[in-house]
Amino acid sequence: MFPRSITFIQGERKGAFPFSNSLLVRGRKNVLIDCGVGLKVALRLKGKVDVVVNSHLHVDHFSCNWVFKGKEIIVPSPELGRTNLEALAKRYVSSNLTDKWLRFAREATGVRDFKPTSGYDEGPLKVSESEIEAIYTPGHTKWHYVFLIDGETLYGADIDLTSFGPWYGHEESSIEEFIRSIEKIKEIEPKTYVSSHREPIFGREKILDELDKYERKIEETGKKILSLLSKPTTIEKLVKQSPIYGRKPFANDLLDYFEATMIKHQIKRLMKKRLVKEVNEGLYSQISNKTHTLQG
Ligand SMILES: [Zn+2]
Repeated sequence: MFPRSITFIQGERKGAFPFSNSLLVRGRKNVLIDCGVGLKVALRLKGKVDVVVNSHLHVDHFSCNWVFKGKEIIVPSPELGRTNLEALAKRYVSSNLTDKWLRFAREATGVRDFKPTSGYDEGPLKVSESEIEAIYTPGHTKWHYVFLIDGETLYGADIDLTSFGPWYGHEESSIEEFIRSIEKIKEIEPKTYVSSHREPIFGREKILDELDKYERKIEETGKKILSLLSKPTTIEKLVKQSPIYGRKPFANDLLDYFEATMIKHQIKRLMKKRLVKEVNEGLYSQISNKTHTLQG
């Protein structure tokens, strides 16, 4: 269970995308970690919150920041001055998709532009007497942080332990960094794990198991893509076979773009392991050598 100073705030649709779960850490100042719970929930919290902290600048984690105008709003330091929605659209998707991204973000979450009041870096957040330590965990985005509260409760943000597995759909995302970040969390051995997109998980062993399973998903996806490359194939064709999303119930072209980017990251990794080669420009294929494995 949670310590008395910590309250789990479930987002709309149980925190499923485009919403997310938050944590409220109470003290002389009440700190809300992430702010994508949905407008209804955010309005209910408004009077109880002094400081809002964002784990990273994905819209499902900051969509309600604007509701807390006038309070402290803290983002990762390198993101200060980069919170503008139009700029984020350019950063996250290709130029032909920025309008679609903006429309989707606004319609699905009600997000509006906001102004952060300050930034934070790795280490203790100096906003409350509770010990809230920010831990740099890139991979999902370049500036993704998780938070350890009083040494036991970890807010894992988008290292979210869902069955989908790790999401690395931006150019700036990195599979290798994602794996290192998961390993970093395993070393902490948190007692309670709060995912942005599922119910909290209690107990060190259970959490370690879930982190292993989540990390393995990366290799499973790699194997799936490798088998689809038994004959020369383009990224476009792979996206049509959709080894990662499987089905795309909304914003199809945005999800196609993210899937293509994830496949590119996987192919880069398979090429580094000498399991895949580019046989012609934009055409990838397995290297047939049965002695190779996916290990290492
Ligand atoms: Zn995210």
